[in-house]
Amino acid sequence: MTAQLIDGNALSKQLRTEVATRAQALKAKGVTPGLAVLLVGDNPASQVYVRNKVKACEDSGLHSVLERYEATMTEAELLARVQALNNDPSIHGILVQLPLPEHIDAQKVIEAISPAKDVDGFHIASAGALMTGMPGFWPCTPYGCMKMLESIGYDLKGKYAVVIGRSNIVGKPMALMLLQKDATVTVCHSRTQDLKALTLQADVIVAAVGKRNVLTADMVKPGVVVLDVGMNRNDEGKLCGDVDFDSVKEVAGYITPVPGGVGPMTITMLLVNTLEAAERASK
Ligand code: NAP
Repeated sequence: MTAQLIDGNALSKQLRTEVATRAQALKAKGVTPGLAVLLVGDNPASQVYVRNKVKACEDSGLHSVLERYEATMTEAELLARVQALNNDPSIHGILVQLPLPEHIDAQKVIEAISPAKDVDGFHIASAGALMTGMPGFWPCTPYGCMKMLESIGYDLKGKYAVVIGRSNIVGKPMALMLLQKDATVTVCHSRTQDLKALTLQADVIVAAVGKRNVLTADMVKPGVVVLDVGMNRNDEGKLCGDVDFDSVKEVAGYITPVPGGVGPMTITMLLVNTLEAAERASK
């Protein structure tokens, strides 16, 4: 069996077209959805991420502001900037690029963002909303995974899902989203004993670890849906996921590639959240 690919680039393109259309409709009412991206320091990976986010906004007709600050910026200065953006009606989404320099308490900064503008979905109010099934912003990466499952018409009701990884930004929210769609969910982590015994039973597996070959063909049952969130480098320095793609694709029913899978969906869902924030603010 060779799995069908879930193409994150193609799905992103479709969703970004929808974002552009909705942004156009808002503009006609005099509102341009706006995202502010704050970058502190000169982490090279962060610089690439923020550039991609700003470009994606521009391509979809969203207004974006990139604010770059020296690594010496104080926590108080950053908190003051966040506060000013909370009060800026032209900005509907605020994203503080992580990681922040060590002298700044990242959680404190995230909590300073107004939950109405928390388009990354990292605020404790957003996490609480997801946990209780209330409206709020969902973290972009697991939200993108849910869209991928939706795109193949996958009904999660009664299915067994295994999430590998329990971070606050991917694993835990992913598990809650799957649970909300009536899947039975197991969350695995570095202390899980006999991961294979669990993944072998799974109908859906989400790998969000950050280590190559965490999931191999002998660990999955035929027809399983595999979403690979991981971003690693192989021996040749090429981008690869957590899943042994070449072997697992021979057993799975659906699989996401890396690159071109979950990665593009993350930025797409940031655009969706920003648009949503602008729509809510303009009601
Ligand atoms: P993280 O905070 O480092 O969490 C990794 C999780 O994996 C932890 O819960 C850890 O368990 C668990 N883990 C480590 N080794 C394991 C093992 N051998 N078996 C089972 N679980 C194990 O990472 P993250 O932020 O969630 O990101 C995970 C991966 O996704 C990274 O590669 C990251 O680059 C990628 N990512 C991609 C996107 C995207 O847009 N595609 C977005 C975000 C993240 P413990 O909790 O016990 O330590």
